[in-house]
Amino acid sequence: MSLQFNVSLLSQEEIGAVREHTVDCRILVSDEPSHGQVTGCVALMKTTDGILATAQLTGKQAEQCSRCLEGMTVPLKLEVQEEFLLSVDPVSGSTLRPPDDPDTFSVSATHILDMDEAVRQAWTATLPIQPLCKPDCMGLCSECGQNLNEGNCSCSPVPDERWGTLRELAQELKGPS
Ligand SMILES: [Zn+2]
Ligand SMILES: [Zn+2]
Repeated sequence: MSLQFNVSLLSQEEIGAVREHTVDCRILVSDEPSHGQVTGCVALMKTTDGILATAQLTGKQAEQCSRCLEGMTVPLKLEVQEEFLLSVDPVSGSTLRPPDDPDTFSVSATHILDMDEAVRQAWTATLPIQPLCKPDCMGLCSECGQNLNEGNCSCSPVPDERWGTLRELAQELKGPS
C-alpha cells in the first residue's frame, strides 16, 4: 500500500465528486534513505483541471534528543493539500498542455495520483530542528558527559549564563530600590 491512487474513474466524474481513502503505509521521507510510517485519511476531489488531494496524516520519526542525545520518537501531524492537474484528458485520452509551473503536481498519464512527494515535503517541514525528549531536558554535563536527567555528577556546577542575563533584566525592571 502506498500514497498512490488510481483516479481514472474519479477524473471522469463531475466537479466536486469525492473519494475517500484510509492510508497506513511506509513512505520514503528523506534521502538517507529512511522510511516513515504514515496513517490517516486522504480525500480526493474532482476539480475543473484536476484532483484536489487533502491528506490528514500522522507519522512518527525516530530522533535523538538534541540535548541529552537519548533516542526518542517525535510524533508528527501532517496536513497536506495539493491540487494535481490532469495530464491527459479523461474522456478523449489526448495529452493536455503541461502546467507552466514545473513544481505543479500532476496526475500521471496512467491516471496515478502520487502523493508521496507532497507528503515527504510536509514531513520534512514538520520535523523539529532541535528535538527534545522532554521540554525541560537537562542535557549532558559538558565536563564528564553524564546525562543530567539521570542525576547530578560530581563536577562543580557551572553558572548558567541564560539565567544570569534574566536575573540582570529582572534587576533592571525593578529599578533602583
Ligand atoms: Zn533529552
Ligand atoms: Zn560532570
